[in-house]
Amino acid sequence: MKKITIAIDGFSSTGKSTLAKELAKHLGYVYVDTGAMYRAVAMFAMQNGYINKDFFDKQSLINSLPFIKLVFKFNPDMGFAEMYLNGVNVEKEIRTLEVSNFVSKVAEIPEVRLKLVEQQKEMGKNKGIVMDGRDIGTVVFPDADIKIFMTATANTRAQRRYDELIIKGDKVSFEEVFKNVLERDYIDTHREDSPLVKAADALEFDNSNISKQEQFEKVLQFLKS
Ligand code: C5P
Repeated sequence: MKKITIAIDGFSSTGKSTLAKELAKHLGYVYVDTGAMYRAVAMFAMQNGYINKDFFDKQSLINSLPFIKLVFKFNPDMGFAEMYLNGVNVEKEIRTLEVSNFVSKVAEIPEVRLKLVEQQKEMGKNKGIVMDGRDIGTVVFPDADIKIFMTATANTRAQRRYDELIIKGDKVSFEEVFKNVLERDYIDTHREDSPLVKAADALEFDNSNISKQEQFEKVLQFLKS
């Protein structure tokens, strides 16, 4: 069967990666979580002291970009690919609230986007890919065969993210997670370079009130049609 490209965009914690992983598994496609790439660059900036809550040395991060190597390696036990930053598996560390608090500031930098978008286009050049992020249907693959745009209320999304972090044992409050969701929504939709917008030809899904299973079935129906 002819392989296609599926682009999934949307706000944070709308369940993009859950849906993308399920679709990729069902179709035997590659799944790419582009948020993991931005998170890994944010982690690099944190590790090197380029960013903290009062300061951001953007130029040093831009100068370091040639030394940031991002690789996805498939983990058969988990059933998906994990993010490696300069040879080190950072899959767990990049999911903390601390990284979430800096990642959107890092993702605003055009030089960072240019580097990651180039790598993402390369990964999708043979199709057979499900990629999720904020600019996949608009910038990375404007010609994607299927585009999905996911939304849910900020409160629902913050509750999902909070539950995930608590299950992992992170000590966070609902208020700080909610604040982070609103902050990232604002930065992601207002940045000059590749802001989060729904592509004109994307199918929009508000999944505030439907289960993951219902959502997956709806998307499958859409794919078949
Ligand atoms: O998807 P996730 O929430 O892990 O993404 C983390 C952050 O990375 C987003 O809030 C956004 O600032 C940035 N991002 C982006 N473009 C993408 C994917 C993620 O700007 N394609």
